[in-house]
Amino acid sequence: MPLPPFTDEHEELRQSIRRFVARELRPYSQQWEDERWFPNEVFHKLAAVGFLGLKYPEEYGGEGGDHLHDAVLIEELPRAGSGGVSAGIGGHIGIATPPIWKFGTEEQKQRFLVPAIQGEKIGALGITEPDAGSDVAAIRTLARRVDGGWVVNGSKTFITNGMRADFVVTAVKTTEEGGHHGISFLLLEKDMEGYSVSKKLEKMGWHASDTAELSFQDVFVPEENLLGEENRGFYLIMANFQWERLAMALGSVGSMQAILERTIEFALEREAFGRPIGKHQAIRHKIAEMAVKLESGRALTYDALRRFMQGEEPLREVTMAKLKTQRDCFEVADEALQIHGGAGYMKEYEIERVARDARLGPIGGGTDEIMKEILGKTYGL
Ligand SMILES: Cc1cc2nc3c(=O)[nH]c(=O)nc-3n(C[C@H](O)[C@H](O)[C@H](O)COP(=O)(O)OP(=O)(O)OC[C@H]3O[C@@H](n4cnc5c(N)ncnc54)[C@H](O)[C@@H]3O)c2cc1C
Repeated sequence: MPLPPFTDEHEELRQSIRRFVARELRPYSQQWEDERWFPNEVFHKLAAVGFLGLKYPEEYGGEGGDHLHDAVLIEELPRAGSGGVSAGIGGHIGIATPPIWKFGTEEQKQRFLVPAIQGEKIGALGITEPDAGSDVAAIRTLARRVDGGWVVNGSKTFITNGMRADFVVTAVKTTEEGGHHGISFLLLEKDMEGYSVSKKLEKMGWHASDTAELSFQDVFVPEENLLGEENRGFYLIMANFQWERLAMALGSVGSMQAILERTIEFALEREAFGRPIGKHQAIRHKIAEMAVKLESGRALTYDALRRFMQGEEPLREVTMAKLKTQRDCFEVADEALQIHGGAGYMKEYEIERVARDARLGPIGGGTDEIMKEILGKTYGL
């Protein structure tokens, strides 16, 4: 029985996504991790079966579904066994295209959203800078008003899909004023003069995804590439964060589910001292605790998702779900590694990769410390 808010229809979609992941992603994940890159063809394959446009209307080439359909996809992607693949796809569907759908003009939707749903243009979201991460209001990339648009100077860092992105939904300052008032969003395109990828970044995990530093030197951005209202970009950031964080929570629920299944299987097969290790109480208890982390994270996440789908603005619930699942996912992966013994430390079992990939969760999309700050404020502190 599907758990609410999911229905039988979502379960059917889940089975078809699971088959796609097993056929098109999982067999190649080790190769892509080694190559530090997954091919753009993955986006084409996802587009061909409609997975890049699940939540978008048919008139833009989407499937006419909603965020619940995307939620199923996000939960299933970890079964590919590569956080980097999930991140690259998630960067595109989860944080780059939603603001265009929500705040873009019709012309921008035709120019960016339609090809993004077809997998023809790949998107990224550029907010973080070398001197501004958690403190988003401290960004310094400056867009100076000129005739017909803006001239942008500055840089962005840690940008997922940064190497391959055709367009970057970029946060800039459109006034010299401090704080969050003068932030706007511009759509920067890779062939604009003065736009360059300055560095490919090497990471602890998420190896198959490309993470880059971007540099903007006197990049002219025309008027029609302003996304949303000028100087109201902070609102766009906050709106985007809710789905990003909920999506991260869903990804971790999916990941914990997959890890638990594999670990139980291993614990029933692997024998030590005359019986399967899962029959030793210490291991059984570890697995019991992993299951509690999974199910409590799922309960918080699905509650936030239900509220989100009902049109509430569930800031507290989304923040709790993000905080709880990200740390727990890393701990669950680490316990799985312990239960696998020496095999857990070996590359071929993929558990070490899952643990490395999961370590990003408490940092990306807003750190654990920032989640606690937000939660504290919701209690009037
Ligand atoms: C692999 C990867 C992919 C990413 N992808 C993207 C992307 O696609 N687009 C994008 O824009 N960004 C992206 N990021 C950036 C990510 O969102 C930031 O790393 C994150 O928000 C934290 O910012 P920071 O790294 O500058 O850390 P800082 O803000 O410098 O924080 C450093 C430490 O101080 C703590 N801290 C900061 N402020 C407070 C406070 N008020 N109280 C208590 N503690 C505090 C933090 O929690 C953290 O522990 C990515 C990062 C990584 C690692």
